[in-house]
Amino acid sequence: MADLDRVLKDPSTGEYRSVIQVRFKDPSGSTADRTEAGNVWPDQASADIYYVTVKLEEHPLADLPFMEDAPPGVPSRGWSYWPIDGVSCAIAYSYAHPASLMAGTLNHELTHVWYFHEGSRATFGLETGHASDVETRRCMIEDDFLDRIKAFMSDIEALDRQLRRRR
Ligand SMILES: [Zn+2]
Repeated sequence: MADLDRVLKDPSTGEYRSVIQVRFKDPSGSTADRTEAGNVWPDQASADIYYVTVKLEEHPLADLPFMEDAPPGVPSRGWSYWPIDGVSCAIAYSYAHPASLMAGTLNHELTHVWYFHEGSRATFGLETGHASDVETRRCMIEDDFLDRIKAFMSDIEALDRQLRRRR
């Protein structure tokens, strides 16, 4: 994310004006939010510190083969979707490895940080890139935010498929 690096720097001095602190959150902890994969705060440009949390994933389906790789009769898992299945903007993905999911979450939160600085706000006027309740308001996602998420998820998808082929 070369342009994220750029937006975090002061153009006149080349020094970083913002720090990103990433914390991994154990969903089994009693107070932890079990549903949200990630979070970033504050949701504005030019903060001194961005606090990013990424949920530690233990994907229950990760050990099942993806359906295209599974021999007949072997239990398998199917496609997953962001933000939700059956909507026009949905991005389909087949990866379920915990590391892949966490990479996707981290990229998603960092894409918000980029968006605070340089996002278009073009279609919905959203400051963060997508509606805060994107799973219910579905395709309220700005195009430039969605394009970046799609590109990264497609990279993870390709890497995950290479790993699957090597097994
Ligand atoms: Zn988000």
